[in-house]
Amino acid sequence: MNSLIRITWESNLPIYEISQSELQKKGIQCLLIDIDGTLVSRKSTKIANAVKKWISESKKYFSLYLISNNPSKKRIAKIAKELKLKYKYNASKPRKNVTLSAIKEVGFESKNIAIIGDRIFTDIIVGNRCNIKTILVKRLNRDGFPIKFNLTLKIEKLISFFIK
Ligand SMILES: [Mg+2]
Repeated sequence: MNSLIRITWESNLPIYEISQSELQKKGIQCLLIDIDGTLVSRKSTKIANAVKKWISESKKYFSLYLISNNPSKKRIAKIAKELKLKYKYNASKPRKNVTLSAIKEVGFESKNIAIIGDRIFTDIIVGNRCNIKTILVKRLNRDGFPIKFNLTLKIEKLISFFIK
């Protein structure tokens, strides 16, 4: 498979159902987390209780860092503040610069870092370009539930099939 679209773990789960012990078994100590679609719906800043709980539990085991492509500092800062996490906004994934600066800042070895996101062409590709692990999760709707039909992902997978 093309190494740029390699997914270390295609979970088929929303982020809050990802098991912390499974992540530890994969050697992960640090998580770079996408925001829109992964932690909240793109149309809302409301963070579901399940997400809040997962984040606070994950803080016990991992170093967490939010990395969003969203250009609105206001939106991203609000979410990061509520979760009490460091963040980067306007990250231009799959470009490497911003993600690499976060990787440098956290100070873990690449093999112990994973990026979690809901998109192949941004989150997964930037993870591979930065040589870290990649985890694909289900996109969340406004109510914090995984969406049933993800057209973006279907299209990304179709294109991925042809660039393999
Ligand atoms: Mg996203």
